[in-house]
Amino acid sequence: MSKKFYELTPDDRLLELSLNEQTRQALSNRQSAVNAQLVENYISDFRVPIGVVHDILVDGKRYSVPMAVEEPSVIAAANNGVKMLSDSVRVKMSRMAMIGQMMFSNAVDLSSFILTHRNEIFEIAKRAKPSIYQRGGGLLDFKIRKVSENETSLDFIIDTKDAMGANIVNTIMEAELVLFEQFKPLGVILSNYATNQLVTVSAAVEFKQVGGFEVAKKIVSLNHFSKNDPYRAVTENKGIFNGISAVVLATGNDWRAVEASGHAYASRNGQYQGLATWTIVDNKLHGELTLPISVGTVGGAISAMPDAKQALSIIGNVGADDLRGIILSVGLAQNLAALKAIASGGIQRGHMRMQYRALAMQVGAHSDEVIQVVSHLIKLKQVDASIAEKVLMEIRNESKN
Ligand code: NDP
Repeated sequence: MSKKFYELTPDDRLLELSLNEQTRQALSNRQSAVNAQLVENYISDFRVPIGVVHDILVDGKRYSVPMAVEEPSVIAAANNGVKMLSDSVRVKMSRMAMIGQMMFSNAVDLSSFILTHRNEIFEIAKRAKPSIYQRGGGLLDFKIRKVSENETSLDFIIDTKDAMGANIVNTIMEAELVLFEQFKPLGVILSNYATNQLVTVSAAVEFKQVGGFEVAKKIVSLNHFSKNDPYRAVTENKGIFNGISAVVLATGNDWRAVEASGHAYASRNGQYQGLATWTIVDNKLHGELTLPISVGTVGGAISAMPDAKQALSIIGNVGADDLRGIILSVGLAQNLAALKAIASGGIQRGHMRMQYRALAMQVGAHSDEVIQVVSHLIKLKQVDASIAEKVLMEIRNESKN
């Protein structure tokens, strides 16, 4: 009997796809034994460039931070933002914990039950995941949250220490289900809306760093715009996530969880708003960014993927709480760079130099020709692929003569 697609080896799966030989070989060459174990129907690795934000000062400590991102100008902008920060970024957070939900849609009243079964609820959690208790974590509390007239969520607050904790939370929640059987719960699952993992970073910026007081005022106004206009807010937050998601991805963390949670938080006032806030305080530009952020430095794909461990080692030996502060600091620097660029004439100048590198390669420039092509293109008013190709040919002809 022929094997099912998921039972094939990665190379045999490639043979099943309609690929030309060159593409099949390239995909085969990029396979890795570890990643083949991580996902179903694995065929190959997809590479994304990693760069670093160099020398960002967070709570008085200097870090180099890896960013994995395909968008050409993101890492340059993050570094630019970091250079503008006058002092260390300050980080504030309370004890971090995940939320697990037990959901009911049958108008239950759980209040007396959870009061009388309090100890049992804690005992079940301890038995379900003893190792997280040995690490100083575990179930901290639980509370009823009314969602609608008939719908109730029993929220379990669980400290997962240095792990992002999705599996830890789900393990505990599934163990708790049995106790609540009589109330016919809809189901249990962690919530990715990590409101018990709120982190705030703030930083001061000298006016001269952004090009003077007038630019600083424009930055404040632009940021204010994002509090009233979702069209601006989405773009401003996308810029913040350029930084955040790139570090989250590089460190092997779940960027979908961080983004979903961040966007929900941006809508907490009933309208989607910019996540960062820029004001002028004591003759300085003052930036602040608050976000719910669940990431880990162990567990999940982080422990399995050498790439993630290597990227984390660039930051140094940090725990999950430090990582949260560092990630948000990169987000704030990224936001500052974008606002400064818009306030002082637009982002295209900075962007285009990086975009032209990609264009040069697209038209066939070798790595030693890319800089030359870009420096020609940057002087032109109009650029497209055919113009880039012409420039490349001219450079090649000149070097022949
Ligand atoms: P794991 O299931 O790998 O749990 C982390 C494990 O790491 C712990 O159980 C613990 O095992 C070990 N560990 C070692 N040192 C520490 C430490 N200092 N602090 C805490 N744990 C430590 O991963 P997570 O529970 O973090 O789950 C994350 C993964 O789940 C991610 O890959 C995510 O994508 C995925 N996921 C996400 C979902 C979502 O977001 N909705 C849903 C389901 C999965 P021990 O104590 O035995 O050594």
